[in-house]
Amino acid sequence: MSNTQRTVTVIGLGPMGRAMAAVLLDRGYAVTVWNRTASRADDLVARGAVLAPNPAAAAAANEVVILSLTDYAAVYDVLEQAAPALAGRVLLNLTSATPEEARTGASWAAGHGAVQLTGGVNVPPSGIGQPESSTFYSGPREVFDRHRPVLEALTGRAEHQGEDPGRAALLYQIGVGMFWTSMLGYWQAIALARANGLTAADILPHADDTANSLTQFFAFYTDRIDAGKHLGDVDRLAMGMASVEHVLQTNADAGVDTALPAAVVDLFRRGMEAGHGTDSFSALVEVMGKPAS
Ligand code: NDP
Repeated sequence: MSNTQRTVTVIGLGPMGRAMAAVLLDRGYAVTVWNRTASRADDLVARGAVLAPNPAAAAAANEVVILSLTDYAAVYDVLEQAAPALAGRVLLNLTSATPEEARTGASWAAGHGAVQLTGGVNVPPSGIGQPESSTFYSGPREVFDRHRPVLEALTGRAEHQGEDPGRAALLYQIGVGMFWTSMLGYWQAIALARANGLTAADILPHADDTANSLTQFFAFYTDRIDAGKHLGDVDRLAMGMASVEHVLQTNADAGVDTALPAAVVDLFRRGMEAGHGTDSFSALVEVMGKPAS
C-alpha cells in the first residue's frame, strides 16, 4: 500500500536538493528543509517550506527524509547530529556514493532504527519533476512501494533495482562514468576544433550525429560481448590502433592537451599486446576487465 502522507523533509539544498524541494512544494507537499548554509533555503521558505533549526528537528518533522548531499562524509556529518531522531525514519539517500559506501550507510541507518532507500538520480536538477526522468532505487521493496508517490514526484520513472542497497549506487556510477567520459570526449573535440578556428557551435551537428550513432554500436556489440565473441569481421583492433594514433597526432599537431587521446592509444596498445589485433576492438572489454599489470 502506498503512503498517502504528503509531507517530507529535504536535507541538503545544493542545486539538486533545491530542485527537489521546489518540485515537491509545487505538487502540494508540506516540505521541511535543512541546509548547513541556511540562506540557501530563503527562496523555498518564501514559497512555503519550513526551515528546521537543526538536522535533528528536520529529521523529527517527517517520516520521509530526503538526503541530497555532496557525499557520504557529509551525510554522516549531518545525520550524527540527528541520531536521536532517526528511529522510524525512511532515509531516501540520493547522495552519490560507491556501492560499498551505500551498503555501509544502510547498515548505519538500520543501527539507528531507520531504513535507507539508496537512490541514484539519472538527471541534472532541470530534470527533477519531469515524467521522462529516472532514478534508480535499491533497498527494501516494501518501503519503495509504500513511498512510490513521492519518488515519482521527484522523477516520473522510479525504478526499483533490488534489495541490495549498493545496487542503485552501482548502476548510477555506471551511468555517471559513461557521462563523464563521453563529455570529456566532447570537450576534447571542442579544444581541437577551436585550435583549428572552429567554434563549439560549428561542430555541434557533427557531434550530435556522432553521439547519436553510439546507441547502434551498443546494440550491435552487446549480444556478441555477452556471448564472449569478439569477431574481427566488421572491425579489427589493428585498424582501431592506427585510427586512434591519427586522433592523437591530430591533437598533438594542433597543440592541445593530449592526455585523453594518449590514454585511448595506451588502451588500444595494451589490447594489441594481449594478442587481440585481429579481433574486434570490443576485445578491449576483456583488457579493461582486469587491472593494468
Ligand atoms: P552540491 O555538492 O552542490 O550540494 C550538496 C549539499 O551538500 C549542499 O547543500 C552542501 O551544503 C551540503 N554539504 C556538503 N558537505 C557538507 C557537510 N560536511 N555538512 C553539511 N552539509 C554539507 O551537490 P548537488 O546539489 O549538485 O547534488 C547533490 C547530490 O546529487 C550529489 O551527491 C550529486 O553527486 C548528486 N547528483 C547531482 C546531479 C547534478 O547535476 N547536480 C545529478 C545527479 C546526481 P552547503 O550549501 O552548506 O555547502
